[in-house]
Amino acid sequence: MLKYLVILLDEKSVSFCHYENPVKENKLISKEDLKAGILFAMKENLNIQFVYPSEELPKEYSEIINTIDHSDIKPISKQRADVLICNSVTEFSNNEINKEQVYVIRTKKEDFFTNLSLLKKNIFKVQRVNMVLTDIDTFSEKDFEKYKEALKELSLETEKQIGKGGFSQINILTDRIMLKQMNNCNAGAEVITLAPNGKFYVCPAFYLEDEKQSIGSLSEGVNIKNAQLYQLDHAPLCRICDSYHCKRCVWLNKKTTFELNTPSHEQCVVSHLERNAAKDLLLKTQIFDNEIKEIDYLDPFEVREQW
Ligand code: SF4
Repeated sequence: MLKYLVILLDEKSVSFCHYENPVKENKLISKEDLKAGILFAMKENLNIQFVYPSEELPKEYSEIINTIDHSDIKPISKQRADVLICNSVTEFSNNEINKEQVYVIRTKKEDFFTNLSLLKKNIFKVQRVNMVLTDIDTFSEKDFEKYKEALKELSLETEKQIGKGGFSQINILTDRIMLKQMNNCNAGAEVITLAPNGKFYVCPAFYLEDEKQSIGSLSEGVNIKNAQLYQLDHAPLCRICDSYHCKRCVWLNKKTTFELNTPSHEQCVVSHLERNAAKDLLLKTQIFDNEIKEIDYLDPFEVREQW
């Protein structure tokens, strides 16, 4: 059942996930489509998340937006929003950090590994950070090793913070500690996106990849072909997996395996390294009443016969 509607206010709306937005020219959603999108969300009882470009919106757009309860996703340059987006660890660290804010740090592996110390220094100053590795599909065996070590370092810092009575949420480390069931992106199942062209998409990545991949429009409504493919119970590996925090990105699945419901080896291994780091942190801190089992694989595909 749909729960959320993401509305891209402009062609240049900031990316908050794995995909890149290469668009250089602003093109706002029309005021009519913005109003119709809000009405659609009201009728379907959906929570709205507006995604902004760096440029200021005309005043009349802000007035329309403020007619409904919503969340704002903005580039870090805007300084205030429900979620602020940065495109590297350095960009995050070089900006004035507000401890009340939630941040998304989109980063490539090299940026992440190189600037780990900077990240450790600043990440614990805020209430929540979502790390998004945008080149996860390029991880090699060597990168997996480096990532495992990096997670250990972040875990040690988290342990120290907990020892001092603090706790910052870092999705790749602490989400799994708190979760007892799957909590994934759910694009196409619980979340859809309204693009500036007035059409619906599974998520912004599908829109930016090819406008023809729409799943309906404001005038025709939503029509998701093979909708079951976006559901957890039709994802043979994910449905028996306990990396509950994994994004389970259907766009990455399609890009890497050509199947919406089949993840890549890289996505699974990275998620399992995070899961295992969370398990060790939970054992050491007992900060939540949860249990994460010891397992001997990093990719559920390796043990598919056991299931
Ligand atoms: S780790 Fe792999 S199998 Fe598990 S939820 Fe993530 S994508 Fe699915």
